[in-house]
Amino acid sequence: MAVSADPEVIVVGCGVAGLTTALVLSEAGRAVTVVCDREPQRTTSAVAGALWGPYVFDDPRVLEWSLRSLPDLTAIAADPRSGVRITPGIEASREPARPPAWLRSVSGFAPCGPSELPPGFGWGWTYRAPVFDMPVYLGYLMGRLLATGATVRLLDSPLRDLDQLLEIAPVVVNCAGLGARDLVGDRQVTPSWGQLVITENPGIEGFFSDFPESEDPTYWIAHPDHVVLGGMVRHGRSDLRPDPEAAERIVARCAAVLPALGHAEVRELRVGLRPVRPRVRLERGSHHGAVVVHNYGHGGSGVTLSWGCARQVQSLIG
Ligand SMILES: Cc1cc2nc3c(=O)[nH]c(=O)nc-3n(C[C@H](O)[C@H](O)[C@H](O)COP(=O)(O)OP(=O)(O)OC[C@H]3O[C@@H](n4cnc5c(N)ncnc54)[C@H](O)[C@@H]3O)c2cc1C
Repeated sequence: MAVSADPEVIVVGCGVAGLTTALVLSEAGRAVTVVCDREPQRTTSAVAGALWGPYVFDDPRVLEWSLRSLPDLTAIAADPRSGVRITPGIEASREPARPPAWLRSVSGFAPCGPSELPPGFGWGWTYRAPVFDMPVYLGYLMGRLLATGATVRLLDSPLRDLDQLLEIAPVVVNCAGLGARDLVGDRQVTPSWGQLVITENPGIEGFFSDFPESEDPTYWIAHPDHVVLGGMVRHGRSDLRPDPEAAERIVARCAAVLPALGHAEVRELRVGLRPVRPRVRLERGSHHGAVVVHNYGHGGSGVTLSWGCARQVQSLIG
């Protein structure tokens, strides 16, 4: 395999976990090579909506990594070419609900008055959060990574295991997402099918998300030239076929919140598989005398967790 001369660290994966981890290590002065069988724009990461928020997980470390990601994301959002913006939005519930405790440490948090809530919603709150235009953001991460001198290699086929890499570098970081099922035989990481609808932007800003989480959440995220409408969560489904009928239901749910979305031209359906695991696997181990750090299984929060997890990988490598 062709990699840069004497890499200190090989990172497997070019999704948001791999690129962010490689960037943190390379900016800290390590000689880093990234290998992957799918380029960034063909990963699950490219499909994500994406809205910052520590959801879909019952793992206390998730909140810490999410909050730890915020300073990096706030700095990145200052660059308009990054695809990241910090924007105000609303989370609302049809049933009596209290905001999660962590929201109180997020900027701009305030309960909503009745006039601020969409029809049918009686409880809600506003806050400011990072939103990501993922194809743009992945391109930004890649550009910043290459500028540090790191090498990126697109492989013709998936790696079957990590052994070959461990002969080349003293440290390997596994950011394979769902690919970890086969790469390291981890059957605890499983697919969770999701679908989003991309429409033109009919002149809206911010984001909306219903509360609490469900298999059919209603949310929309406005980007300058399009809107991402969600969503669906189907645990265990592993195909990548779009479902046009379900997409119509997503649009109808979002239009009930904001009628302008019902008339917006649909441009695309996006389908992806969240790499769900009972707990994120972020740990250091060893294999034939080399160091292996795993960083995968981020479920529906991989973008949210990316910087916090990448910085933890850096401390685990030491
Ligand atoms: C519909 C949908 C909406 C989402 N919305 C949000 C959101 O709003 N906020 C949020 O935080 N998250 C969201 N997510 C979750 C987020 O997309 C994922 O958690 C995240 O993208 C996982 O990133 P990753 O880098 O671990 O994996 P991936 O993006 O899947 O990247 C894995 C990389 O590993 C490489 N790889 C795997 N196996 C091998 C192998 N054997 N050999 C070589 N290379 C290999 C692949 O080529 C790829 O480059 C959403 C996901 C979906 C599907």
